[in-house]
Amino acid sequence: MKDMFIESLKNLFRKPATVKYPLEPSPTPSNYRGLIVYKEELCIFCTKCEMVCPPGAIRFTYNEDGSKEFHYNPYLCIYCGECVRACPKPGCLIQVEETAPSATEEELPNWDDLERKADESKKRWLQARKKKKS
Ligand code: SF4
Ligand code: SF4
Repeated sequence: MKDMFIESLKNLFRKPATVKYPLEPSPTPSNYRGLIVYKEELCIFCTKCEMVCPPGAIRFTYNEDGSKEFHYNPYLCIYCGECVRACPKPGCLIQVEETAPSATEEELPNWDDLERKADESKKRWLQARKKKKS
């Protein structure tokens, strides 16, 4: 009981173990797998990376002509590497030993809007494709 009390007192004066990332820079841990870098010129737009991404940090929006645009949210990414493993084009997605840069609230991507746009544009594209086929 006495030890616990002393430890609690010490904790009152210790620096917090957490940082306010992304508002403050995050230290890079050892064996860190890192930020995703995407090379559009190698991409075949199969969307496998989007399908396997656990937190939904990769989303595609669909243009009217059927072309797709890749979007990545480094602040949502958990750096698991699933997208890199799933990508059929070597070098199209790579992980670099860097964290996403710290950002102010205003600089953070508006991911809710982007997700809405991705869902709606995909729906429109699927409907247009269905219409074309019938
Ligand atoms: S590393 Fe993981 S979390 Fe990050 S984009 Fe790829 S699949 Fe998603
Ligand atoms: S898995 Fe690779 S090739 Fe397929 S859309 Fe994603 S980045 Fe492009």
